[in-house]
Formats: sequence, structure tokens, C-alpha cells
Amino acid sequence: MTVHPIVIYGEPVLHRPADPVTEFDDALRTLVADMHETLDASNGVGLAAPQIGVGLRIFVYHAEDDAGVRRRGTFVNPRLVASRVPDGRPDPAEDTEGCLSVPSLDYPLKRADRVTVTGVDEAGEPVSLGAEGWLARVMQHEFDHLQGTLYVDRLDKRWAKKWKKEQAAAGYDEPGRSWMPGVDPDPFGH
Ligand SMILES: [Zn+2]
Repeated sequence: MTVHPIVIYGEPVLHRPADPVTEFDDALRTLVADMHETLDASNGVGLAAPQIGVGLRIFVYHAEDDAGVRRRGTFVNPRLVASRVPDGRPDPAEDTEGCLSVPSLDYPLKRADRVTVTGVDEAGEPVSLGAEGWLARVMQHEFDHLQGTLYVDRLDKRWAKKWKKEQAAAGYDEPGRSWMPGVDPDPFGH
């Protein structure tokens, strides 16, 4: 298995919809195993294939649910159904989100409280997950990646302004940048 570099905001593959997986072959199994290894090395909670430069509809997650149980899984060609996103301003103490493709920065964003995700795994077997709270947030974030949307593209006016400033300062607006989990300093200080 191989840890892959994680591409940063500005890389075109992050900003376009990913393609459905059609071949359930050894190459797919290797890719999924590499994604789990890359996620472990990055200390993140979720990773979508476009984040390692592969424009396919796949994400993996290693995250705790609200009961504190560690969940680990793979979705290929997922569908997501979410409850309504609550009204009101995001609370920095409750709603803060980060992304491995936007290293070192974080912003609050309102998300739906409950989701159901269905799809298949790398063997083509059906998988589904009902999630609430934090895990539901992770699912929405990763699913967004497959649509070419990053959480910073969804920020409300106030936080979008802060992001635009910090984006320019960090240089997260041009293609060709990446960082290497396990080699470069952990961008979220884990
Ligand atoms: Zn992300």
C-alpha cells in the first residue's frame, strides 16, 4: 500500500464532479487500500479520491459516531439523503470544520443533523450508513468532494470573507500544490 500526496485547493480535480466507478477490479482495490493508508497517515477523518488527484466517486472515513464508536468504511458511487440544514448562523464552538485539502485553516458551517448514505464498497457489495451529528457532517463533507464542492465554497458571507483573505495569504488558489502525510508537518497539529 502507498501513502499518496494530498492535493490542495486550486487543483482542478478538486473542483469538478468526479466520475462514477465502473470497473471493480484490482486497481480499484489497490486505490481504496491506498486511500485508507493515506487517511491514517494524515490523521484525518475522511478522504475523497479527488483529494489524491483521482477523479472517481469514492470516499473513505475513519471517524467516531456520537456514541464514541469508531467507524471505518468505504463508499463507492455513494448517494446521500440529508435532513434539512438548520437555519441560523454557524456556531464556531459546535460547527467548525476542516479539510485536508485546505491545510491549517478551519471555519464554521451549518450542516444537516442526519444523513443516510448508500452505495457499494470496493468489491461492489451494497453498503449503507445512517449517521447523526459529527459523523453526518463528515459524510456531507466527503460527499461534497465528489460533486467538486469544498466546505469553504459553502461558507456564509461573514466566514467566506475571512476565508478569501486567508486563502490569498496561504496561496490556496493555484494548481499544482500538495502535501505529503507522514512527511510534511501535520497541518492540523495532531
Ligand atoms: Zn475535505
